[in-house]
Amino acid sequence: MTLSFNCKDSGDPVCTHTMYGETEQELLENVKRHAIEAHGFTEEIFNEEVTKKMDHIRKLIKTV
Ligand SMILES: [Zn+2]
Repeated sequence: MTLSFNCKDSGDPVCTHTMYGETEQELLENVKRHAIEAHGFTEEIFNEEVTKKMDHIRKLIKTV
């Protein structure tokens, strides 16, 4: 089972990048790397956002 998360689904108006992971933890690591590299997040801000919005993020995670 592979999980996926699409940047556009999370509300980004332009980025359509999709990240994948075998587990929720692995997926979040990939999302974090992308957020830092492509969207200027710091690890600290990312972790804060994830903590605040985890319920919402879980709804956006798809099984492929
Ligand atoms: Zn993106």
